[in-house]
Amino acid sequence: MKGQLFINGEWTGDYIETMDVFDPATGEKVGSIPKAGEKETKLAIDAAHDAFKDWSLLPAQDRASYLMKWHDLILENKDEIAEILTKEMGKPLAEAKGEIAYSASFIAWYAEEAKRIYGRTIPASAPNKRIQIMKQPVGVVASITPWNFPAAMIARKMAPALAAGCTFVAKPAELTPFTAIKLFELCEEAGFPKGVVNLVMGDAPSIGRVMTTSDKVRKLTFTGSTEVGKLLIQQSANKVHNLSLELGGHAPMIVCDDADLDLAVEGVIASKFRNAGQTCVCGNRIYVQEGILESFMKKLEVKVKGLKVGNGLEEGVDIGPLIEKKSYEKVQRHVEDAVAKGANVVIGGNGVANNDSYFFHPTILTNVTDDMVVMQEETFGPVAPIQTFKTDSEVVAKANDTRFGLAAYFFTENYSRGTKIAEGLEYGIVGWNDGVPAVAQAPFGGMKESGMGREGGMEGIEAFLETKFLSISLK
Ligand code: NAP
Repeated sequence: MKGQLFINGEWTGDYIETMDVFDPATGEKVGSIPKAGEKETKLAIDAAHDAFKDWSLLPAQDRASYLMKWHDLILENKDEIAEILTKEMGKPLAEAKGEIAYSASFIAWYAEEAKRIYGRTIPASAPNKRIQIMKQPVGVVASITPWNFPAAMIARKMAPALAAGCTFVAKPAELTPFTAIKLFELCEEAGFPKGVVNLVMGDAPSIGRVMTTSDKVRKLTFTGSTEVGKLLIQQSANKVHNLSLELGGHAPMIVCDDADLDLAVEGVIASKFRNAGQTCVCGNRIYVQEGILESFMKKLEVKVKGLKVGNGLEEGVDIGPLIEKKSYEKVQRHVEDAVAKGANVVIGGNGVANNDSYFFHPTILTNVTDDMVVMQEETFGPVAPIQTFKTDSEVVAKANDTRFGLAAYFFTENYSRGTKIAEGLEYGIVGWNDGVPAVAQAPFGGMKESGMGREGGMEGIEAFLETKFLSISLK
C-alpha cells in the first residue's frame, strides 16, 4: 500500500520522503506514507480555514446528511477497513470490526446531534433589554490521535466537529495511518466539500508545532500519552488554543466480596485483555476483597488460560501482538520489576519476540505490593496484577492514589455500597459491574492528568462550540 495526504480535496504528497508502516504480527512491511511536515500541515490548515465559512453556514440537516453518507459507507466497507486495521495495528479481526462499528456509532450519533445545537433566551434585568445565548462552531479543528484505536479516535473527534460546523485537519499515528487513509477515501466518496476534511501524517513534532501555533486553528483535540498532552498544552499557551485532551489512564478494578464473580471475571477479561491490554481504560490494577480471592482466582485462571495469542487475522485469536518493541520491553520491565519485588507469576509472565513481532502472554501476578511499577504506571499490556483489600474506604483511597483519573471499575451486588464507592472514585468514567462502558451517547474523558474535556454524548459536540452572549437594547 502507498498512502497519501488528503488536502483540500486532493490526494497529494508524492514528492515527500516516505516512512514505512509494518504489521506488528509479522514484522512485514504493510506500506509506506509521506513524511509530511510544516509545509503540508499549513496547507491543510489553510484549506480547512477557507472551507470553514461555507461549511459552518450549511444547514445542520445538510451537514448531517454528509455524515450519514460517510457512516453508511464505513459500514458497507467494514470488513475491508477492519482488515487494514488489524494488519497495521494487530488487534484481532473481531475486535477491529467492533471498532469500526463503534466508530460509525459516533458518526450516526453526531449526525443527529447536529440538529440539536440549541441556544436559549434568558429574562433580562431591564424592560428594554433582551438576552440571547447562541452556539457557534469554534472554527478550524486540528486533531492528533494514537495507534491503539486508529478508527474510533478519529471518528469520535471528527464526527462532532463536523456536526458542529467546524472544518478538520487530522493527524493519525505514524504506526497506523492506513485506517485513517481509508476513512478519508470514504469521506471523499461521501462528497464532503473540498477543504472540510484534511489528512496529514509524518513528522509528529513538526505537525504538532504548526497545529499549536497557527492563528487559523481554533481548537486542538488530542488523544495520546499524558507526556505529549502536556507538551501540547505548553505549545498552545501562547495562542490560548481551546484544548480537549484524552490522555493516559491507570484504571483500578475493585471486586467486592458480594460481587457476582462470573460477571466480575468477565469484566476483568474484557477490560484487561482487550486489545492486548493496550487501551487507555484498561483495568491496570485489580483489587479483590479478602475472603473471595481463592474463588475469584479459580475462575479468572480458567478464562485467562483459554485466551489464544496470535496473529489477529487468524480465526479464534483473542490477543494479538504488542504494537512495537518499545511496548514489549515496557511490559517485560513491569513484570520483571514486580517479580524482583516478590510478586508471584500465576500465569504467563513472558513473551515471544521474533522477526520484529512482539507477543506477550496474558499474565496474572499475585502477591503484588504498592511499590511495584505495575501498580503505579500504565502497563499497556496484558498483565493483571492482583492485590487484596479489607475495607471499602481503604480500597477507594488506594484507587484514587494516582495522578490519573480516566476509568475505574467495581463489582458489587449491593446498591448502597456501590453508590458510595461510585461517589468516592475520582474518575471520569466508572463501570459498575461493567468492564466496557464506552458508548457514543455518554461522555468519555478523564480527571487529573488523564486529561480535560469529554468526547461522546452532548458534551462531545459542546467541545466544538463557542457560546456567544448577545445583549439587545430595544428603543
Ligand atoms: P503518544 O506517543 O502520545 O502518541 C499519540 C499521538 O501523538 C500520535 O499521533 C503521535 O504521532 C503524536 N505525537 C507524538 N509526539 C508528538 C509531538 N511532539 N507533537 C505532536 N504530536 C505528537 O501516545 P501513544 O503511545 O501513541 O498512545 C498511547 C497513549 O494514549 C496511552 O497513554 C493511552 O492511555 C492514551 N490513550 C488515551 C485515550 C483516551 O481516550 N483517554 C484513548 C486512547 C489512548 P506519531 O505516532 O506520528 O509519533
